[in-house]
Amino acid sequence: MGEPTVESLYEQVRAVVAATEDEPAPGLVPVAPGIRVLALRTPTLPPAAHTNVYLVGPEIGPVAVVDPGSPYPDQQAILDTILTAIPISRVLLTHHHGDHIGGAAALAARWNVPVAAHAATARRLAGRVAVTEILDDGDIVDGVRCVFTPGHAEGHLVFEHGDASIAGDMVAGVGTILIDPDEGDMALYLASLERMRSGPRMLLPAHGPAIVDGPAKLTEYLAHRAMREQRVASALTSGAQTLEQLVAVVYADTPRVLWGLAERSLLAHLLKLEREGLARRVDGDRRRWSR
Ligand SMILES: [Zn+2]
Repeated sequence: MGEPTVESLYEQVRAVVAATEDEPAPGLVPVAPGIRVLALRTPTLPPAAHTNVYLVGPEIGPVAVVDPGSPYPDQQAILDTILTAIPISRVLLTHHHGDHIGGAAALAARWNVPVAAHAATARRLAGRVAVTEILDDGDIVDGVRCVFTPGHAEGHLVFEHGDASIAGDMVAGVGTILIDPDEGDMALYLASLERMRSGPRMLLPAHGPAIVDGPAKLTEYLAHRAMREQRVASALTSGAQTLEQLVAVVYADTPRVLWGLAERSLLAHLLKLEREGLARRVDGDRRRWSR
């Protein structure tokens, strides 16, 4: 329907915004008992420029490797060097987005280990990454408990280990989380954030540093989305109609270069409000809305 791809919107942002805020420590860093992190450069949304790869398991291994997302050979070589000293048991994927899976197939082939993910992730990766083990809510694998958290992505899983939760793209330590319809669903995302509030205290996001007080961060995220939704509702009341008109009001506090991406999250809010009977499309066009 003529909507730009998220990849092309990332490109537009990257052309203007430098990834200056994202300078992670090099090498393998312990972040929680039994969890170490390695930030690798990936083609992700600025200001983030890296995706965290988490190694879960004892110091001498074997370890489960979560989200080896870099497609770049020099970055994959850093992880390969580390894994010559620490045996790997399997690859775990939080979801199917490119900056989380870019190195998964090469890694699994090199070490001859399974790739495990949710069924919806496996379906979306068909032809790119062979997911050989299907995980679902409550499954425990390599000492990691899987929690199904759809919303950012249809098959998103969070991996709990001890008092920490490897949070994928549910929250971000740097940058923001995009909810992109139709694979993104605002109502599901908010329900998943709510569910995570009763989970482990420490959140280990895919982008940026660890979040020590997870419940506080999740509460802040929920409040922020509620504020945004309130603004969408009042913009509709005051007569804004097209996505262009709505984004200018609802995201007036956001740099213009991000409005293309903001339109995606705006649409996610509108589709949620539509289901609740609080917004409707004009002439069936999802770029034009009224109360
Ligand atoms: Zn993602």
